[in-house]
Amino acid sequence: ESLKQLGEAPEFESMARGAGRFPVVYDEGFGATVKDPDGNLYIDITAGVAVNSVGRLHPRVVEAIHKQTGKLMHSSDCSSSLRLDLAKKISGIMPAGLKDNCITFFTQSGSSALESAIKFVRKITGRSQIVAFHGAYHGVHCGCGSLTTGDQYRKDFGPFIPGVIHAPYPYAYRCCFGTKSQEQCEDMCANYLEYLLNTPYTGVDDVGAVIIEAQQGEGGYLAPNPEFLQRVKASCEKHGALFIADEVQSGAGRSGKMWAIEHSGVEPDILTFGKGIGGDVPMAGVTLRKDLAEKIEDGSQPNTFAANGISAAVSMTNIDILTENDNALIKRVAELGELIKDRLKEGAQKIKCIGDVRGRGFMIGIELVKDRETKEPFDADLMGQVIMGMLNKGVILVPCGRYGNVIRFMPSLTTPKKYLDKASDLLLEVLESLDI
Ligand code: PMP
Repeated sequence: ESLKQLGEAPEFESMARGAGRFPVVYDEGFGATVKDPDGNLYIDITAGVAVNSVGRLHPRVVEAIHKQTGKLMHSSDCSSSLRLDLAKKISGIMPAGLKDNCITFFTQSGSSALESAIKFVRKITGRSQIVAFHGAYHGVHCGCGSLTTGDQYRKDFGPFIPGVIHAPYPYAYRCCFGTKSQEQCEDMCANYLEYLLNTPYTGVDDVGAVIIEAQQGEGGYLAPNPEFLQRVKASCEKHGALFIADEVQSGAGRSGKMWAIEHSGVEPDILTFGKGIGGDVPMAGVTLRKDLAEKIEDGSQPNTFAANGISAAVSMTNIDILTENDNALIKRVAELGELIKDRLKEGAQKIKCIGDVRGRGFMIGIELVKDRETKEPFDADLMGQVIMGMLNKGVILVPCGRYGNVIRFMPSLTTPKKYLDKASDLLLEVLESLDI
């Protein structure tokens, strides 16, 4: 059965169209595992799509929720002491350039953080164009959805906001310039961006910001080298455009550093976060360098539920867990991520349908192809066989990528090593057993 057919199952009858459909219903969740209503236990290698950074129902998170429910939940549109504490804590974990020199606007989802970021860029720079990248995912609202690429998110939903230009993101395995190495592909992409910004008649003459995922998520788990991001930053500086790092998926320690941009040393002007900072509860936001944030007038971007008591209390606890003992959990992710990648790469030597294994930390992409020579991507039926094969063995995985053919290995940061080993071995087993 293909994933699409599975999405038509009777259990999904009353579910809104448009949301993702997946053949497992979650009933309970703890740590790196979830149970369905029939009591079947699964290892969740998706962390609820890169959300449960410290695992589900972490005891300290549960305790923080209990404590906060006895104190203050909703605070109105003005600040709560907890929201102020959280803004300060977030400032302390920002990458260089923003660290201890920033202001954070809280939102309830990545999409609304990005929506605000677009408006802030316009207000701060007085410019209206934004450059984003092929394969980008920056949310689904009308503004941020304009930055997102992918037919499923765009077709028949337009027109989108004007002034968005898309440039190539380094995807060496399928380089649009036909280059043969990661470095050459990155070189061409950086050249192209500079050409766009620098050349009359490209129509790109009013750029307020370049927005980039330092490791691309939905677009296929692509991790460019530091030099590429440094060249993007250099182009931004040269042309007076702000550099926005969208860390909604790659942040909160997932890449093996708190923020994926930190692998490059690039100092972003604006950073958006979400998913793993809130974990079990909705939390997202946009952080701006102080001198930029000062250009946004008070009250110009209200948000009723921003940093709700529970969201703020949980985020504070999540950040504590991520950063304590000198970022021990994040360092674990960097080390174990390399081990898993090596294990998968080794397996790929004999399994012909693995075209590429890439990524950093717990953000590993495994690109599946019908033929290594032609690189023809796995279709929905084959991906369905992989996802179902893994579910039958008790492991939840979800795909991503421009052709939907990239398995993403994105477990909770706290996932026990034995689960990670088991899940990667089972994946190799399932791939080896496919009849292609
Ligand atoms: N930016 C990135 C990089 C994302 O991966 C996502 C979600 N996949 C978003 C923004 C949007 O976040 P949300 O689904 O919370 O609106």
